[in-house]
Amino acid sequence: MMYAATAVAEIKSKVAQSVERIRKESERSPKLVALLIGDDPVSRTYVDLKRKDCAEVGITSEVIDLSSYSKEEMPSKVVETLTTLNADSSVNAIIPQMPFDGKVGEELVFSTLSPDKDVDGLTPYSLGKLVRREYTLEGSLLPCTPKGVVLLARHYGVPIAGSDVAIVGRSVLVGEPVRKLFQDLNATSTCYHTGSKRLIERLREADIVVAASGRPPELFGSSGFRLSGKMVKEGCSVFSVGVRRDPKAEKMLFDIEISTLKGKCAFLTPNTGGVGAMTRACLLQNTVIATEIQMRKNAD
Ligand code: NAP
Repeated sequence: MMYAATAVAEIKSKVAQSVERIRKESERSPKLVALLIGDDPVSRTYVDLKRKDCAEVGITSEVIDLSSYSKEEMPSKVVETLTTLNADSSVNAIIPQMPFDGKVGEELVFSTLSPDKDVDGLTPYSLGKLVRREYTLEGSLLPCTPKGVVLLARHYGVPIAGSDVAIVGRSVLVGEPVRKLFQDLNATSTCYHTGSKRLIERLREADIVVAASGRPPELFGSSGFRLSGKMVKEGCSVFSVGVRRDPKAEKMLFDIEISTLKGKCAFLTPNTGGVGAMTRACLLQNTVIATEIQMRKNAD
């Protein structure tokens, strides 16, 4: 079965209500700024979609496009821009759009970004709160995609506590935070990676599989990954995260093969309009959370 739309609609509706309340209280809407650093056309598309989402729920948005700066200029430009945005009280939320195409180190970006405006939960502070279990799913700035996966699972009643969760990928952006969030909900969760042995055996044992490699076999050959029906057990739940654009064929290639998984899974997110849509909804929710954190601090 394929799901996502009702969970996304529910979050967006709650966000729109919160935005309205914030507008009444503070006489202005929350504001999200997206920072474009890499010049990948896919990043540009994602930023455009985020702006469209913001407009739908009444959040003000702006894109600052730094992508034309050279690798030499970028670090100082990013630090200067983030420092200005951190100090600007009209800006509540900042998302540096990844990937940065090697133009600036992630460490520099996320150590400069203010944790209070870190709506993708990727600063050392936000990640530390996650590791220390000092967070709530509803009130903290958690990485959007991992949060989206877990909220989807909860929304559609996927059993989590006591389940075995296999995550393909161990990145700071997706794999590791997903693992931690599932673990904190009393699942037993493991990240697999290119050094993992017996991956398929492990996947076949899992109750929940999160596929987040982003390495389609069409582009990566034998080191690529795609989850198919014969790699999972009957009745499992599968979340499709990994996606990469095939530059030659100009199409998107996904981590999961829907056709063979469809009859076998109890829960299966679609390749488009699933985790991606939920990620965008979580970004809106995190923008409200960030605004509320700042309003509380200003009231103290
Ligand atoms: P990443 O940093 O490249 O990490 C990919 C992970 O997958 C790495 O840990 C890698 O292992 C592992 N991996 C790759 N090939 C593998 C294989 N054949 N077998 C086992 N593990 C393998 O990417 P990311 O930032 O986590 O993103 C992952 C994917 O999710 C990308 O396609 C990205 O575009 C997508 N994504 C989607 C959304 C959404 O909203 N839908 C949001 C964010 C990201 P090693 O660590 O050993 O290299």
